[in-house]
Parts: sequence; C-alpha cells; structure tokens
Amino acid sequence: MSNIDSNLRELYQEVIFDHNRQPRNFHALPEADHHADGHNPLCGDQLTVYLRIAGDKVVDASFVGHGCAISTASASLMTEAIKGKPVAEVEALFRAFHTMLTDANAAENEAQPELGKLAVFAGVREFPARVKCATLAWHTLHNAIIGAQAPARTE
Ligand code: ZN
Repeated sequence: MSNIDSNLRELYQEVIFDHNRQPRNFHALPEADHHADGHNPLCGDQLTVYLRIAGDKVVDASFVGHGCAISTASASLMTEAIKGKPVAEVEALFRAFHTMLTDANAAENEAQPELGKLAVFAGVREFPARVKCATLAWHTLHNAIIGAQAPARTE
C-alpha cells in the first residue's frame, strides 16, 4: 500500500468515526411524510429513516436507531447527502453507492463526484459482512421513498 492510499484510508476512517460519534440528523421527524424501518440481523443494526418530500424533492431527512459504527455513520452521511436533492437524484445516488460497495470492478466509482463524501465507505467492499451495515440506511431510504410496508432487511 502506498502512503497516499494509507493517508486516504486514515481520512476515511476519521470521517466514519466522526459521524458515528456525532451522527447528523439523528432525531425523529414529526413532520415526516415518509418513513421506513430497516434491520440488519447479521449485525443487529436497526434504524428508522424519516423523510419529508415536497414536490419531487427530499426537503428534510433524519434517522433514529442503533447499530455499529458503519451503519450509524452511513445513515448520518446519507441524510446529509440527500437533503435538498430531487428524489430521482437520490435514487441514482443509492445505485451508485450500492455499486461502489458490491461491484469489485467499480473502482472508478470511487472517483465519481456525485458520491462525494460517501466515497469514505469504498473500503468496506473488502468486508462483505460490513457491506450490509453500510447499505442498510440506503435500503431503508429506498423503502421509505416507495412507501413499502415491510421493513427493509439486508437478508
Ligand atoms: Zn453493522
């Protein structure tokens, strides 16, 4: 591993650590018009995602729950990333994030500007069990958007 790689890795770990310790948008949203529950039985991560959608835009997003550092940091960074974005863009972001984490040939996705800070989870791809921790919030978000009745599960 080069120095640049290990510096980047350290920076990524710092961002995840920071968002786990101080999750952003970590509260219920009384004015939410969409919400969904998500559960990752493999790790025990459990969360609820709240959205307020006006027109075609996600105008507010928040989450509550408990789980490992990766799932909490992922939900925190997700709510930051999607606020103010059109629903279509949010769904595209979900697909890009999922591809980054599951497609071994998707290294170029890490450089995609649309992912922005979400690229900090690129390294999780090397740990298949943790991929579910990182994607739980996004699966739950997707269910909230489409109004699915069943809780999102990673299994
Ligand atoms: Zn987890």
